[in-house]
Amino acid sequence: MTDASANPPGTARPAGAGRPPTGPRAPQGSRRPSEAAGSGGRRPASRRRGSDGPPDDRHIYDVLVVGGGPAGSSCAYWLAEAGWDVAVVEKKRFPREKTCGDGLTPRAVRQLADMGVESELAGAHRYHGLRAGGFGHIVELAWPEHPVFPDYGYTITRHDLDGLVADRAAKAGATVLQGTEALEPLLRGPTAEDATWPDGRLPRCDGAVVRTKDTGATSEIRARYVVVADGSLSRFGRALGTSRDKGMPQGMALRGYYESPRHDDPFIESHLDIRDPDGEVVPGYGWIFPLGDGRVNVGVGLLSTDRRWRGANTTKLMENFVRGAPEYWGLSPDTACGPPTGGRLPMGLAVGPHSGPNAVLVGDAGGSINPFNGEGIAYGYETGRMAAVAVGQALSGGGSEALRDFDHTLHETYDEYYRVARAFVTLIGHPEVMRLCVGLGMRSELVMAQLLRIMANLLRPDSLGAAELAYAGMLQAADVVRQVRHLRAALA
Ligand SMILES: Cc1cc2nc3c(=O)[nH]c(=O)nc-3n(C[C@H](O)[C@H](O)[C@H](O)COP(=O)(O)OP(=O)(O)OC[C@H]3O[C@@H](n4cnc5c(N)ncnc54)[C@H](O)[C@@H]3O)c2cc1C
Repeated sequence: MTDASANPPGTARPAGAGRPPTGPRAPQGSRRPSEAAGSGGRRPASRRRGSDGPPDDRHIYDVLVVGGGPAGSSCAYWLAEAGWDVAVVEKKRFPREKTCGDGLTPRAVRQLADMGVESELAGAHRYHGLRAGGFGHIVELAWPEHPVFPDYGYTITRHDLDGLVADRAAKAGATVLQGTEALEPLLRGPTAEDATWPDGRLPRCDGAVVRTKDTGATSEIRARYVVVADGSLSRFGRALGTSRDKGMPQGMALRGYYESPRHDDPFIESHLDIRDPDGEVVPGYGWIFPLGDGRVNVGVGLLSTDRRWRGANTTKLMENFVRGAPEYWGLSPDTACGPPTGGRLPMGLAVGPHSGPNAVLVGDAGGSINPFNGEGIAYGYETGRMAAVAVGQALSGGGSEALRDFDHTLHETYDEYYRVARAFVTLIGHPEVMRLCVGLGMRSELVMAQLLRIMANLLRPDSLGAAELAYAGMLQAADVVRQVRHLRAALA
């Protein structure tokens, strides 16, 4: 049995390998998540490693993972790599379409490298930074040097990416059951061990009733622990009682593919001044991500929770954005590869509870998208890996306490950063503030470079530079905003 913190063969071990890199709390000396994905567990004799046959309802897996996207597959990989008997149920078959911007930042690349998947990204487009535009200005920003993360990213369609990670999990020994949908949880009443858990936790769950798409047959999959990774709609999660905190921001985005002469541009591009049909600036952004295969991924995203933009017509915003996009991309209705599709972006850990005595919630199911930039793939990989560490420790004898630790680690890693991000997006939700900040910021490459590091969660753990100082200032401002809000609520 191996330790999940061990490096997969053939990959260099950068600083911090073997655990999800912490967020920007690192400069202030945050606690790091515990490392081992459990190594003392006994492997059951009946273990079925890596098979993709029909579910066997007499077998009890160590772990059932619901959903084979970034969060579920990363969790399954780290658990299987540590030797645990893990099954993933994925309702679709890979390769499958998934609505996304298809952008991998250095944070996501780091996780793929740790799983040994980066070497398989041969068909992906490697890019070197962000070109940000808005209010008549444009600035090119290279990804910064960083001791933990690489200074490049990739674009690759989710059609091509997600199967690679699921395959990696299967090669590590996970049983990946594609075309198998978890219909409902197998719930069990509380045990004596659960008495110390507060109300408002996930209930005990012994597995799931599943349906195999090909045959339509239903059966049960049983497991000692369950990881919920079923994405932003999270029907399975909701059947376990999860809900979204409506006070937190939620994104809404639309994307489509276009043929473009600049399909292999070394920069991804974002525009901070997207406008509604009346020409009013809307708080959100538009993007054009070159895919290197003749196409670019074009999209618009905004915060659907902002009262003023609730019900906004994203199709119209997208049409406007395409019409106004820089000419060099060659975008027009004629170069569209098909109609755009959209999705929700639950952010800032807005969905919970994240844990219970034998179940945890990861990725979009737990609302783990970064509110600063709408990035969720990296956070799916990271939270999946954190869950693998915790569940591994639970299986190794730590029991349900280890899952309580997962909850603490999750919040300790992201809460502060997401609080700053939420305050930031609320502030720039006011068009005047947005215009002022972006207009001023865009005049200075230095300012934008620091902002990029903050927004992409690439602050350095080892030095206190301009971005880290700016972040500390934003944190103080976010705390003041929070106190004012509390005061207002108390006086109301
Ligand atoms: C328009 C748009 C653009 C985006 N652009 C980017 C971007 O450029 N970069 C970025 O980092 N993030 C982006 N995101 C966010 C990103 O797509 C998500 O954060 C990410 O996919 C989350 O991964 P996940 O594994 O939690 O969920 P998902 O990727 O949604 O995976 C969940 C999986 O579970 C399966 N499933 C669901 N229910 C069941 C069930 N009951 N039984 C079995 N299987 C089930 C689904 O088929 C799916 O494969 C974007 C999102 C949208 C909507």
